[in-house]
Amino acid sequence: MERTSHFRMAARAASLLAALLAAPLHAKVKVAASLPDLASIAAYVGGNEVEAFSIAKGNANPHFVEVLPSYMIKVSRVAVYLKAGLALDQWADAIIEGARNPALLVEDCSGGIPVLEKPAGKADASQGDVHPQGNPHYWLDPANGPAIAAHVRAALSKADPAHAPLYAANEKRFSEECAKRNAGWHARLSHLNGAAIVTYHSSWAYFAKAFGLRIVGYVEPFPGIPPTARHLQGLTERVQAEKARILIQEPYFGDSDPRFLERRTGIKVFRFTPSCEGTGPGDYFAHFESMAAGLAGAGG
Ligand SMILES: [Zn+2]
Repeated sequence: MERTSHFRMAARAASLLAALLAAPLHAKVKVAASLPDLASIAAYVGGNEVEAFSIAKGNANPHFVEVLPSYMIKVSRVAVYLKAGLALDQWADAIIEGARNPALLVEDCSGGIPVLEKPAGKADASQGDVHPQGNPHYWLDPANGPAIAAHVRAALSKADPAHAPLYAANEKRFSEECAKRNAGWHARLSHLNGAAIVTYHSSWAYFAKAFGLRIVGYVEPFPGIPPTARHLQGLTERVQAEKARILIQEPYFGDSDPRFLERRTGIKVFRFTPSCEGTGPGDYFAHFESMAAGLAGAGG
C-alpha cells in the first residue's frame, strides 16, 4: 500500500515536471526593424506578444549602417523584418540575405506612403546619391505613423495569426493616439507656420511639410554630397534674404558649417536626431514631443 502511494506520488511529480518542461515560456514574436521608429511602432502594435529591436541607432545616419555578422545572427532568429524602403536601408538586404532565414517575413513599411521629392526622370541630379526613389524620411511626418502601423499589423498577423485581433485593436489605438498627439504638436508649432528654415541633409522634408515650415536651403548641395565654400556662400545669402531663423542639423554631421552660418547670419542651430532614441511603444511619440519642445521657443 505504502509502496503504491509512493509510486503514485513519484509518478505525479514526474508528470508535473514533464508538463512544466513542455509548456513553452510565453513565446513572443521577434521583430527586427531597420529603424527605431519602426521598432517602436511594432512594440506598440505588438503589445505583450512582440519583442522588437532596431538595427540602426536613433542618432545614426540611416543611409549608412555597417553590415555586421552579429546583425545577421540576430535576424536569423526573428519572424519579421520591417524595412524602411525607398532605397534608404539598402544595407538591410545584405543583413537579411546573410541571416539565411527562409521563414522570415519582410515588410516594406513605405508602401502606400505619398512620397515627396520623387525624381521626375530616370537620372535626376537633384536627388543626389542617396535619394534615388524620392525622399525616404517619411516617418518624420506623424500623419504617416498610422500607415506604418498598418504595415506592422499586416506582418504581425501573418507571422502570428492567433493574435491578429489583438494586433488590429492595437493598430487602431496607435492610430487614434498618433492623430490626437499630432493635433497637439500642430497647435504647439502653429507659430512657425510659413517660417523659413534650413536643414543639413533633407531628412526633414516630411516634417517641414507637416508643420508648414518652408525649407529654403540645405547645407548639403545635394543629398549625400558635402558642401563647398561656394555653396555655403550662396546659402548664407539665401538665409539672409529669406530671414531663416532655424537650421536643423542631424547629429552625425560635423557642426562647423552650421556654426559658420550661425555666426554669419544669426540663424539658430537645432540638433535633432532623425529617429527616436528608444524602441519602446511610446518612443515614436516622445521624439516628436522633444522636437516640438525644442522648437516651441524658436522664432518664426
Ligand atoms: Zn536622406
